[in-house]
Amino acid sequence: MSLLSITDLTVHLPTGAGIVHAVNGVSFAIAEGETVGLIGESGCGKSTLGRALLRLSPVTRGGIELDGQDITHLNQRDLTTVRPKIQMIFQDNAGALNPRHSVGKSIGQPLRLAGWSAKDAKRRVHDLLVQVGLPETAYDRYPNEFSGGQRQRIGIARAIALNPKLIVCDEPVSALDPSVRAQIINLLNDLQARLGISYLFISHDLAVVEHIADRVVVMYLGQIMEQGARDTFWKQPLHPYTRALLAAVPSADPDAVRVKSVLQGELPSNLNLPAGCPFQARCPMATQQCREETPALRRAGSGNDVACHLVAPDTGATASHTVKETDRCPAP
Ligand code: SF4
Repeated sequence: MSLLSITDLTVHLPTGAGIVHAVNGVSFAIAEGETVGLIGESGCGKSTLGRALLRLSPVTRGGIELDGQDITHLNQRDLTTVRPKIQMIFQDNAGALNPRHSVGKSIGQPLRLAGWSAKDAKRRVHDLLVQVGLPETAYDRYPNEFSGGQRQRIGIARAIALNPKLIVCDEPVSALDPSVRAQIINLLNDLQARLGISYLFISHDLAVVEHIADRVVVMYLGQIMEQGARDTFWKQPLHPYTRALLAAVPSADPDAVRVKSVLQGELPSNLNLPAGCPFQARCPMATQQCREETPALRRAGSGNDVACHLVAPDTGATASHTVKETDRCPAP
């Protein structure tokens, strides 16, 4: 059974310039202990989707089911009973921590709000500091005394304090140096192995997602373009947008396919969505059908679900999508 199931999730945000169509009819699920990577360019709606799961962004249409419970329209009081199950780790860990609160107070706050005694909360925070690789002496210190990587460890300790089932990780390592990034990824993997947590890992860093995710979902203009399991996704990307994104990432896997494809132009405004395929304005293979009909997300022969008129649902690819050896981008 899925831990999280979202169906036709739609988030439209009114602004002074009009209605931002941030998320448009997205459906996918996350199993217990699974990591789903959510990728796409800045502004594609992935962070808004993550915030909607925690009900931090308003849901316009569709449903969110967490651990068998429909949480789409829970009021604030009922949400407090759900919040321990789903937590968030932010990119800006400095902004997420109150600089006037000690580390002990910041990590212990969700425990105290959940009714833990001061004594039990303190004991739990000491245990959490050890779990995330920080000294217990960090308890009485303040966020500005720590490096970016250490502050991210504090954020992770706070996120796992109440034993969540799912953590939405919103670009959690994007601001970190590569060596520190690897340490935080290893910590997340270790915590998942020990605690069975599921992650929705939002990132524009495809190399990191390739390393951590069991499944990958690609978003463009608030819609899913392609999704698939680790084994098929990286080796047989079929959607032109996925292939353009992956073309920029060198791979050390000799079997991985990296077609030469350059992403042209900018992400269009999501104030006025185009008719037909959302990717048509930047797609080198767009046809008249693409301008008139929105492609449905269908299972292709590769095992991935793909939203493209040119990808046949039974065989996975047409001649125009056949990947040639000569198209492969060599690893550096
Ligand atoms: Fe390109 Fe058409 Fe496929 Fe959209 S549906 S990705 S425009 S070929």
